[in-house]
Amino acid sequence: MKKFVIILVVLILSLLATAVLFPSLLFSTAIGQKIMLSIEGDQVARFYFKENQTTKDTVYMTGVIYANTLRDIKETLDTNPSLTTIVMEEVPGSVDDHINLLASLEIKKHGINTYIPKNGMVASGGTDMFLAGKKREAHHSAKLGVHSWAGEDSVALDYPRDHEEHNKYLNYYKQISIPESFYWYTLEAAPADDIHWMTTTEINKYQIFTSTLENIDLLEIQKKLASDNFKGRGTGSNTETQELIKNYYDAINLKKFNDSYSIPFIFNDEKTKKERQATNIIGYIPGKIHKDKYIVIGAHYDHLGIINDTIYNGADDNASGTAALLCLAKYYTDNPPNHSIIFAAFDAEEQGLFGSKHFVNNPPIPIENIKLNINFDMISRNDKNEIYVVGTFPYPQFKPIIKKVASTSDLKVSYGHDDPEDKTKDYWMYSSDNGSFFDKGIPNITFSEEDHPDYHKETDDFENINPEFYTNVYHLIQNCITEIDKNFPVSEK
Ligand SMILES: [Zn+2]
Repeated sequence: MKKFVIILVVLILSLLATAVLFPSLLFSTAIGQKIMLSIEGDQVARFYFKENQTTKDTVYMTGVIYANTLRDIKETLDTNPSLTTIVMEEVPGSVDDHINLLASLEIKKHGINTYIPKNGMVASGGTDMFLAGKKREAHHSAKLGVHSWAGEDSVALDYPRDHEEHNKYLNYYKQISIPESFYWYTLEAAPADDIHWMTTTEINKYQIFTSTLENIDLLEIQKKLASDNFKGRGTGSNTETQELIKNYYDAINLKKFNDSYSIPFIFNDEKTKKERQATNIIGYIPGKIHKDKYIVIGAHYDHLGIINDTIYNGADDNASGTAALLCLAKYYTDNPPNHSIIFAAFDAEEQGLFGSKHFVNNPPIPIENIKLNINFDMISRNDKNEIYVVGTFPYPQFKPIIKKVASTSDLKVSYGHDDPEDKTKDYWMYSSDNGSFFDKGIPNITFSEEDHPDYHKETDDFENINPEFYTNVYHLIQNCITEIDKNFPVSEK
């Protein structure tokens, strides 16, 4: 008994001695951090489910991030595969930045969303973790705090911008796709021992909350693109459209070629004989099996813009194709394809297919790796419930697959406009961006309807489209692509 007491006293004394002589050593351990935080009236971070929860798709988090948070988060993710969202109730910071960034990258890796609830508060290292969320949202009453950091005898702003001390954070923000400018802003916002609560303007500026654009459906996107706010999407004045497409790509994590979705280019306007600038917006999803074989899904997003003070909204031409492009990008992000798929929103089609011409002349991958182009241009209205599939005359290998899918559709699916000898129909192989691919000998299939009275008129408005027809065409296209991706014709493999 006596011996036991002596051992206990020695143990307590040595613990105390460690705490006094090497406080940083003690506070780098989970137990030390727990003691330290409880002295300050704080708790270490814990993850928990509410008692009345019926599903385990949402876990709640509260407390200060510490040495065990990486372990805890991994365990939570591993044992709850249906988890989609972490609700960060009160996470005032972190006492272990190294662990925090690793734990946050786990959130990023698993595509988990983060949410700050009513009266919630997240700050400092908690903000860094919040930013790792795939979708990031918050109740309007929630608070989000930022500040600078300090070392033992220096503060962040003492170091020049290219100093390696900044790299840990810069690399982290890069990995979670938060602009670098956000980091520099936090250093100026408040010193390390103070906190700055972000304003709405700042929250918008640094894209702290993700747009929920990717959750609106086909028709809502078309309606938005065809609204007057988008000024008819005329080449040279369609930056709002470009932003919307980029934000969408970003929200669903489409990959970029050369670090950017935007591919600006110059073309010669045939009417004015002047050089003009336009911008394609390109992203991709790597294939599961045939990584080096690409399907290019394309649609032009430009329209006629404003002519004599009248906005030409181009709801059918081609907000319909652009919205379909975005919804397909989201669908294949959630359902990864066998082949790699490039999503190409082309500009300056109306002036002469310039976006797609630029793309095939400057492809981001070797051109021989592009195995197929699927194009859609005007797919949201037809009085006869008829949609044309254009390109199976030169590329008959795709026809059986498309026919099989078409047999399950309520639409009248017709083939044609692709045989130069057929004088009963206009030849459409050069009528849209498919022409640029056709010129290069790349197989291509276009979905389009025959012209309607509002074609290239100011009345091509959302009110005049046919939602049921459009939704059916969308599903026809999605099913065709899925079947082609699975059963690519032997001659084209
Ligand atoms: Zn068009």
